[in-house]
Amino acid sequence: MGSCLSHENTKVDDSAKEKLKNSKIIFVVGGPGSGKGTTCEKIIEKYGYTHLSTGDILREEVNSGSERGKKLSEIMEKGQLVPMATVLEMLREAMLAKADTSTGFLIDGYPREVKQGEEFEKMIGSPTLLLYIDASSETMTQRLLKRGETSGRVDDNEETIKKRLETYYSITEPVIKFYESRGIVRKINAEGTVESVFEQVCVQLDALK
Ligand code: ADP
Ligand code: MG
Repeated sequence: MGSCLSHENTKVDDSAKEKLKNSKIIFVVGGPGSGKGTTCEKIIEKYGYTHLSTGDILREEVNSGSERGKKLSEIMEKGQLVPMATVLEMLREAMLAKADTSTGFLIDGYPREVKQGEEFEKMIGSPTLLLYIDASSETMTQRLLKRGETSGRVDDNEETIKKRLETYYSITEPVIKFYESRGIVRKINAEGTVESVFEQVCVQLDALK
């Protein structure tokens, strides 16, 4: 029985990989409030890629009021990371739904830890490029506090922001080092205006074609 089940899982994984093997996969990594979402919106406008924000996908689940959503909400309010299998499953579903029509996938806010990157590659595929959206912790904090005035996000408050930044530096930043050895990391200076950030991003995306 057990082997039968795992065999089935393997088959599902392979077919997902097969379906996505010609897709461009772009990871967008940076701290909370660095401007990932903002930059991704501009990329979609110009390049027509599919934007997948794991944060947005998770928040949709929270807002649906499901049991799973309630558990997610508790974790997110503490500024912690949601279990990997949950995020990955939701991400894979979303990508497969668009596999036939998408010119590329922008994965916003994932991987949050090295292990998530490794699992992603096992179940979905390898990233083509990693855009590292780099801003200082002061800049990120200021942007998040401002966003918190209107976002309604449970985690855009001073106390949670501190914890999210700690989580970012200890757990997410190592992801960048992990992919640097493959030569796919492109560092973007995100201290400036939205336009200046986007200009740097365009240089990198244009080089892909
Ligand atoms: P992330 O998705 O990385 O958490 P967002 O894109 O949501 O970050 O940006 C966080 C906040 O900062 C938003 O309110 C956004 O409007 C603002 N913001 C993003 N990029 C810039 C920038 N380059 N300059 C000023 N404000 C920015
Ligand atoms: Mg975001």
